[in-house]
Amino acid sequence: MRVKNNIILAMDLMNILDAYDLSEEISNYINTIKIGYPLTLSEGLSTINIFKENFDFNVICDYKVADIPETNEKIADLTFKAGADYLIVHGFVGSDSIIATKEKAEEYEKDIFLLTEMSHPGAKKFLQPVADDIAKMGVEMNIKNYVAPSTRLERLSQIRDIVGKDSFIISPGVGTQGGDPKKTLNYADALIVGRSIYESEDPETAIKNFIF
Ligand code: C5P
Repeated sequence: MRVKNNIILAMDLMNILDAYDLSEEISNYINTIKIGYPLTLSEGLSTINIFKENFDFNVICDYKVADIPETNEKIADLTFKAGADYLIVHGFVGSDSIIATKEKAEEYEKDIFLLTEMSHPGAKKFLQPVADDIAKMGVEMNIKNYVAPSTRLERLSQIRDIVGKDSFIISPGVGTQGGDPKKTLNYADALIVGRSIYESEDPETAIKNFIF
């Protein structure tokens, strides 16, 4: 995937009109967005196609899928059918649940991102101790795309070492959560940025702070 300016906008807005206006404002600077539960539960899966048709964005659906294989497969099917290019899947549920989403992605000629470790403080307790194992499992499964935190650069660096230079890492946590964008890009291929852009009075200027 080619991510323009190495920035993925986390579109965690609660209505499509705001999301559409923001997209118009900054579409010269980005070509990839991440949609999560806030927008999808507010406005439905059909929002994916709105961004595809009007802006030709790459759409990553951040549903942090974490269920049994049979349910994961259904979630992946609905998400890719709705037009998503990528689906973010939790790693802690194990390889069978991940395979279910990966195989479904391949049916649609799309792909998944494997979530290793999260960026918030609470992730240290349960997720961080197993994150290296999740990344190693991803490598064994031939997964190419990963999510890893910018808020703990030593962890991001360690995960990069595990998944190797040819894997694609996207990294949330810069800006509002405190991660340093420039240092993050020493290890990650693209930044995920949400509030620092969509809560700004001037999103266009805000986005330029993340372009190097
Ligand atoms: O607003 P902010 O820039 O903190 O947004 C970060 C985005 O990345 C949010 O959509 C959040 O759900 C997501 N995310 C994260 N940490 C992860 C995975 C995803 O913050 N490990």
